Amino acid sequence: MSPNTQLYIAGQWQAGASEIENRNPSDITDLIGTYAQASAAQLDAALDAARAAQPKWWAAGIQKRHDVLMAIGTELMARAGEIGEMVAREEGKPLAEGKGEVYRSGQFFTYFAAEVLRNQGDLAESVRPGIEIDVRREPVGVVAIVSPWNFPIATPAWKIAPALAFGNAVVWKPANVTPASAVMLTEIIARQDIPAGLFNLVTGSGRAIGQRLVESRGVDAISFTGSVPVGRGIAATAMANMTRVQAEMGSKNPMLIMEDADLDLAVAHASGAAFGGTGQKCTAASRLIVHEKIHDAFVEGLVKAAEALKVGHALAEGTQIGPVVSDSQLRQNLDYIAIGKAEGAELLTGGTRLDRPTDGYYMAPAVFAGTRNDMRINREEMFAPITCVQKAGSYDEALALANDSEFGLTAGIMTRSLARASHFRANMRAGCVMVNLPTAGTDYHVPFGGRGASSFGPREQGRYAAEFYTTVKTAYVAAGSPE
Ligand code: NAP
Ligand code: MG
Repeated sequence: MSPNTQLYIAGQWQAGASEIENRNPSDITDLIGTYAQASAAQLDAALDAARAAQPKWWAAGIQKRHDVLMAIGTELMARAGEIGEMVAREEGKPLAEGKGEVYRSGQFFTYFAAEVLRNQGDLAESVRPGIEIDVRREPVGVVAIVSPWNFPIATPAWKIAPALAFGNAVVWKPANVTPASAVMLTEIIARQDIPAGLFNLVTGSGRAIGQRLVESRGVDAISFTGSVPVGRGIAATAMANMTRVQAEMGSKNPMLIMEDADLDLAVAHASGAAFGGTGQKCTAASRLIVHEKIHDAFVEGLVKAAEALKVGHALAEGTQIGPVVSDSQLRQNLDYIAIGKAEGAELLTGGTRLDRPTDGYYMAPAVFAGTRNDMRINREEMFAPITCVQKAGSYDEALALANDSEFGLTAGIMTRSLARASHFRANMRAGCVMVNLPTAGTDYHVPFGGRGASSFGPREQGRYAAEFYTTVKTAYVAAGSPE
């Protein structure tokens, strides 16, 4: 059997140095395929090709860049059903969410296609007569993108689209558990009229290929999404090399349920934000801080909602919660259930492995009550369908608990009080605050990111993305005399 040519380097599809298996977490007997692993030499070749291609892409001009991004986005939206099925099959999210993710990915490209045309600078008068000043944004150069598995197309899309829009070249290392989505996105990009080497897909493990990529002197900027420990390491490496870096990492998002909240809406939003995507979202609601007056009614509703969720095969009709992504993730989740119990939290429902007709990594959504904010289950990101309820005697106490975390990505409040909602917006230490909305679920045209250990570097998405993907040049021009 000839090896699979799934790496895309210098404008050529290539076989890797080795291959790994990609299996469906809903049914581990379903072998999706074997996927190429790049060698160090292949990664270096991709970086050299990107360096050579980038000036050609910048010189091609804004109409060209606009048209290429628009074509990629349009194709992603048109093929959301087909590609979304692969996302669901290899990542384990329900089919509708897989399709939605691919459609959204298309929107990132069409949004940034329009941003290409809006790359306008500033004019200034000089304090010295006879001199004119202009300020322009130029590409950073070669951008390394390292992405996680939980949004295997959307996260890369919101990085690749602005990178290309602003005239940069890309070397992309996707997560090794979701290579099929990466190959499908690359096939679309590779078909465009772009310089060979402008866009490169280099799959391989984080330890080998990821580490070598972020350490490379051939990289001008690194955009990373993933876990805190890996993000910390990448930021330190980037600092040593004076490479620009942006890292979006974990979180422990709080949701305040106040005594004046609409109870049914609070239960629906909390359950959706805690368990949607099997809890494997950096925006998941994992700390539910509930006013004591509504506590018991809310917890009763939440347990019912969790037990009503249909956990099953991602591609099966009616599935609301798919499997956990992998065996190691499932084992880690079950460890956290044991840790929570040992810490004295009360497990009200779920937290066990489930049997389904196919052999997959199924887990019952879990609700812990009677938790304290200093428990590990309230401090550490679990990335699991596990949520923790803690009781608060007042809004002030709830806000203080919410802010007592090293993370700060998203945070929500359920209340009918305008005064409290306004106070929360102003005093919650998070990158995104949600009023009467779930902590998960964001738009594509406005900035996304967090504070504290959740994010490092400039924001992603919307026009704020220009801060990371461009560098500013200030030009001083003396016209001289007309004679
Ligand atoms: P991860 O282990 O940090 O991996 C993320 C990416 O980094 C993968 O491509 C991984 O490669 C690679 N990598 C691992 N070690 C590396 C190294 N030493 N140098 C360079 N690259 C390396 O995270 P994950 O397990 O994929 O995803 C789960 C985590 O991502 C959670 O903590 C979650 O909160 C976070 N996340 C955050 C956001 C956000 O926007 N804030 C969004 C989604 C996910 P492999 O393929 O080999 O693992
Ligand atoms: Mg990983």
